[in-house]
Amino acid sequence: MSKDIMTARIERNQLTHLLQSEDIEDVPFDELVRLFREEEGLSDYLPEGIYATDPRTGEKVIFHSTRANRPHDNKPVGTMADQNQGSCPICQGTTTGILDLKPLSEGFTFINKNLFPAFYPLEVEADIEAEIEAKNKTSKTRRKGTGNIFGFHFLQWTSSYHERDWHNIPLTDATLVMKRLAALEKKLLAEAPVYLGDLGKTGADQHDNPVYILITKNYGHLVGGSLSHGHQQIALSNVMPKRMGDNARFFEENGQTFSHYLLHINPTELIIKDYGPAVLLTPYFMRRPYDMILALKNSSPQFLHQLNESELEAVAQGWRDAIRAILDIMPSIGRELAYNVVTHNGPGAGIYFEFLPYTQETGGFELLGLTICQANPKEVARHTREVLSIL
Ligand SMILES: [Zn+2]
Repeated sequence: MSKDIMTARIERNQLTHLLQSEDIEDVPFDELVRLFREEEGLSDYLPEGIYATDPRTGEKVIFHSTRANRPHDNKPVGTMADQNQGSCPICQGTTTGILDLKPLSEGFTFINKNLFPAFYPLEVEADIEAEIEAKNKTSKTRRKGTGNIFGFHFLQWTSSYHERDWHNIPLTDATLVMKRLAALEKKLLAEAPVYLGDLGKTGADQHDNPVYILITKNYGHLVGGSLSHGHQQIALSNVMPKRMGDNARFFEENGQTFSHYLLHINPTELIIKDYGPAVLLTPYFMRRPYDMILALKNSSPQFLHQLNESELEAVAQGWRDAIRAILDIMPSIGRELAYNVVTHNGPGAGIYFEFLPYTQETGGFELLGLTICQANPKEVARHTREVLSIL
């Protein structure tokens, strides 16, 4: 990697032309919608605006043909012809309008619009598959088939420094980044349902929540991370992702949140680190080596913005440690760096985060729902504790 890339960053004055707001909380919701619709460049990469449901599992599929064209700078050098040769669009300031920007101890963190949105405030109702819906009405088995999907798709850039992310920024900065995620989440939850309700676009799943907040992180081209500059994805969707429904159903069936249950049932030997308000652990049902879960002990909050200061700091610590461990361990076991982080929020979750390093390929048995995990949880938990103790 060249020295230029190692020290690459975007300076605040290079982003002046993109700065639409320094605080997402100050942007009126209709203004937010307008800024999305008027963003130059997004119109070339809009999703189809429809989803289909696998009638066996309830998993939803969104169709988005233009997303295949997005650039990647995150592929291993020399393996792909279309790689971006290390030029980062974020460090070059060639990105979308910024909606939130806060200084860190060095540089800043900011939130903007995803140029390739899977969720978008479509003005026109997309055509749904009328034939499927008509056949569903006359079938003995009536399952939700297809429908319109809409929402908003944001990106949060952890730091203006290209090489900085959760693993190498101070804890106070990491906590601030988490707080900005919480601020965006709060804004969307408070105001989007009213906006969507006015358009008659609420509750595709007739759940209590008319909208769903998806917070994830993809790092590495193997798991969908197209840019190497550290970032999180935040989306608002009118359609409930399958796993969120799973959490809600777990709560209905068991009378407790999944995080509460997991903290009770998971063997003590599998605890990686206890931060007080939250615990990082290896789940006893680990599917791939080094899967981790960070669970909040307080099972009342359903969303990030409902967490108090010490809980948010514990979450930031957990993210930092889990990602540090992944970055250390994956190369040492001969794996290319690639991982996902998934946030579980909303009814039944109790707030927990899954850290999922791509330590093992998915085979046919796994696709049948029978996973062969090439490690055992006790050994992995012990090794992760050891790695974190010397980092
Ligand atoms: Zn960059």
